[in-house]
Amino acid sequence: MSELTIKLPSTVNHSVTDIYNYTNVKISLPDRCPLCDEMQTPIFITSSGLEDGDYKFSIILECNKCRQHFLQHYKFNGASFSRMGIKTRYADQINFEYQFNNSGFNDEIASCSQKFVNIKHQLDIAEKMNLDELLKFGYRKAIEQLVWDYLKTYQEKSEKNLQSKSLPERIKLLNIPENNWISDLIAWVGNDGAHPYQRNQELTIIDMKNLSNLLVSQIQNLIQQHKYMEYHSKNK
Ligand SMILES: [Zn+2]
Repeated sequence: MSELTIKLPSTVNHSVTDIYNYTNVKISLPDRCPLCDEMQTPIFITSSGLEDGDYKFSIILECNKCRQHFLQHYKFNGASFSRMGIKTRYADQINFEYQFNNSGFNDEIASCSQKFVNIKHQLDIAEKMNLDELLKFGYRKAIEQLVWDYLKTYQEKSEKNLQSKSLPERIKLLNIPENNWISDLIAWVGNDGAHPYQRNQELTIIDMKNLSNLLVSQIQNLIQQHKYMEYHSKNK
């Protein structure tokens, strides 16, 4: 793994204010291009600045083979050395961290199943990266998680009890008006996402998203009903 020492300009609100104010940092370069997977020492192109008080930065690299640019993130690890009065810090490679807010979901869903929200964020990333082969099955996993967490929290079902049931059987436990068909459709599309053959070719990922939205909004309603019923029974 090749090492490189670079100068990170200090920035305020991501603008360089003083070109003589910088931080020396020694980093190891990635040994593989994430776009074409070729082993190599990529070419350093440029770096971000270092925001006041921050400990993360990124660099842009160019692949020797496919010539595409890619990004690598780093985080200072606390180690440093000084030579001739000049301090150089060390930083480690870190994975890209996607920033999300929960604006797509109300508090009821996020507090019922943070895991569901996390899976949904990963699905959004997969979709942005054109990983469409993973989506149908991924949506099924997200829905399974939400239904699972709802039944545990609001119907006090045990994991053992839930494990003995299929996904359609668990969805039926919600007792929603769509019980008869939504559980089957979600299971069908999810299974198609896991199999090399498609039993329901006409049901696309758009249908899976629609079905998911329908079920999520029903679960939101159930959680709200549960809260108000609880308030009512405590205060009547
Ligand atoms: Zn490449």
